[in-house]
Amino acid sequence: MSYKKFEIGQKKKIAIVAHDNKKTDLIEWVKFNKDLLAKHDLCATGTTGSLLELELGIEINKLQSGPLGGDQQLGAKIAEGEIDFMIFFWDPLEPHPHDPDVKALLRIAVVWNIPIACNRASADFMISSPLMTEEYQRFVPDYKSYRERLKK
Ligand code: PGA
Repeated sequence: MSYKKFEIGQKKKIAIVAHDNKKTDLIEWVKFNKDLLAKHDLCATGTTGSLLELELGIEINKLQSGPLGGDQQLGAKIAEGEIDFMIFFWDPLEPHPHDPDVKALLRIAVVWNIPIACNRASADFMISSPLMTEEYQRFVPDYKSYRERLKK
C-alpha cells in the first residue's frame, strides 16, 4: 500500500471532548497541562469548550455541543485536515443519544491516522511525548484507488 504524508507542525491543532461524567477528569487534566496546551490551537465541543474557557481562561474554538452536532463537526474537521490530534474522554458506562456520532468520530480519526487519547493515562503519554514540540509526518494510506474504484 502506498501512503501520503501530512505535515503536523510544532504548533498542533488539538480537539478536546469529554462526556459529562468525564468532564471533571478532563478539567483536572487540562489544568495540569495548561501551559503546554496554551502553545497550541484548541478546539472543543460546545459544553466542554465553555467549561475549559471558564476554568482556565484560555481561548478555545467552540463547536456545537456534542449531541447537537459537535462530534460531527469535529469529524468533518478531521477529514479536512484541520485537526492534528484528539483528546476524547468518553464515558464507557453510559449510553448516549449521539452514540452513532461518537462511533463515527472515532472511526474517522482512525481513517486519517489521527492520534486519539480516550482516557487520562493515554492523554498523559501523548502530551509528554517529545513529538509534541516537534514537527511530525503523519502517514495516511493513499486512498486514490478507493476513490477511483468505479472508473475502471
Ligand atoms: P459537549 O459534548 O462538550 O457539548 O458536552 C461532548 C459530547 O458529548 O460529545
